[in-house]
Amino acid sequence: MRVCPECGAVHSIETTVCSDCGFEFPIGEGKGGRRAPPQVDGGMVEIGGINSPERLAMLRQMSFRAMRNCRLSYQELQAYGALRQYKKGWAWHRFREQEAAPNDA
Ligand SMILES: [Zn+2]
Repeated sequence: MRVCPECGAVHSIETTVCSDCGFEFPIGEGKGGRRAPPQVDGGMVEIGGINSPERLAMLRQMSFRAMRNCRLSYQELQAYGALRQYKKGWAWHRFREQEAAPNDA
């Protein structure tokens, strides 16, 4: 049994990628093996709260479909997920999806 450090989901010991949030578990842990920490491409992403109440209100009203159609920052995705009580790893998973398929509609 292994617990995902990103979202807390519990998987079998053979699991290499978390099915909930996409976290890649380090392989060969403790033996200097390959490690795959989550990384954000495209430069540093500022992670923190969103201060603007207007922005938060906008995110609160945004439908899931609308959210998928516009490119939110990781920070905004975190706020969006938090507003809907998604799992902690959701924003990261969605951000990666968004980067992989920017024109996904
Ligand atoms: Zn996870």
